[in-house]
Amino acid sequence: MNNFSWYNAKSIEDALTQVNSTASYEIYRQSEEAAVFKAGGTDLLDLMKEGLLKPKTIINIRELPGLDRIEYSNNDGLRVGANVTLAEMAINKDLNNHYGALATAAGEAATPQLRNMATIGGNLVQRTRCWYFRSYDHPCFRKGGDRCFAKNGENENHAILNNGSCVSVHASSVATALLAYDALVVIVNSRKETKEVPIGDFFVAPGEDPLRETILEADEIITHIRLAKPANGTRSFYIKQGARESHDWSIADVAVVLEMNGKTCQRAAIALGSASPVPVRSMRAEGALAGNIITQQTALQAANLAMERARPLAKNGYKVPLFINLIQQAILAAT
Ligand SMILES: Cc1cc2nc3c(=O)[nH]c(=O)nc-3n(C[C@H](O)[C@H](O)[C@H](O)COP(=O)(O)OP(=O)(O)OC[C@H]3O[C@@H](n4cnc5c(N)ncnc54)[C@H](O)[C@@H]3O)c2cc1C
Repeated sequence: MNNFSWYNAKSIEDALTQVNSTASYEIYRQSEEAAVFKAGGTDLLDLMKEGLLKPKTIINIRELPGLDRIEYSNNDGLRVGANVTLAEMAINKDLNNHYGALATAAGEAATPQLRNMATIGGNLVQRTRCWYFRSYDHPCFRKGGDRCFAKNGENENHAILNNGSCVSVHASSVATALLAYDALVVIVNSRKETKEVPIGDFFVAPGEDPLRETILEADEIITHIRLAKPANGTRSFYIKQGARESHDWSIADVAVVLEMNGKTCQRAAIALGSASPVPVRSMRAEGALAGNIITQQTALQAANLAMERARPLAKNGYKVPLFINLIQQAILAAT
């Protein structure tokens, strides 16, 4: 790991003034001059130890005032500060009462120790766990190279949907639940401008820009995540499959949010994680449920439709039946 200087930011403005505009996303060999934000540090320090990020300055934003709270109201819905930990989200009463799939996703990520450190802001900005990306010796497409080593290599954990130029998957399983709830990511920049970005627009697919995984610029900080109050009759469920039961990222995860009127589904949101380079919604599966009574058959039909366009790689064909099973289970469990 390289030497670096440390700065404890006192406010959001202070942190944004300090950040070096040469970009925290200039990763790999271009990264020597960068200054980066640190929240819990669980991904940042891995990237530094792996030699992928060599910042001159680390700006500690972990203690910034106002970013450590979860607030809920019947009018405004939920606001989760960017520095709230996954452990705090998992046990929060309002999350468990109104956004069950999100509380479950936070509680099933990583390990208890990591959840106590890991913040929701850092969770969304963490980099992919593709082992070729994480290996300094593999100058892959995501790091400015000209090829994806996983495409014809060790690709058992990789994408089965939208797997064109790069087949890595995003590492956040919490994002899967946020996508099903249509969450908004609240971002402030160094010019004190605030924007609210739908989580579906927050992640950047490799085909759009291989060097970045989110739209976040170097002089931008996530301050909150916002979720609207769920409509009456909303039910949700989240399910994650890892290679191991604990201490592992997802190889497939599914979040389902259904607006029910009795036994009939009025509106469905079905989000898939670790299926595609960025978390995705399955409009086909959602369309198959809307307006219908949910049964074993309709749930299976929706699950099959979600996988209709899957194009597995040499070593991850198992993901197709796995997703079909998880989607069907999640739909039935939600109802
Ligand atoms: C063994 C292991 C298993 C894991 N399993 C899972 C899993 O199952 N599901 C899952 O979702 N995750 C999993 N993770 C990832 C873990 O959840 C993330 O590492 C963590 O959430 C990152 O949060 P952090 O606060 O530590 O971020 P940091 O490491 O501090 O930061 C990560 C990145 O986010 C940026 N950043 C942080 N906060 C902000 C902000 N407010 N605004 C702008 N940029 C910001 C930093 O600059 C950095 O680029 C696992 C990690 C490990 C090590």
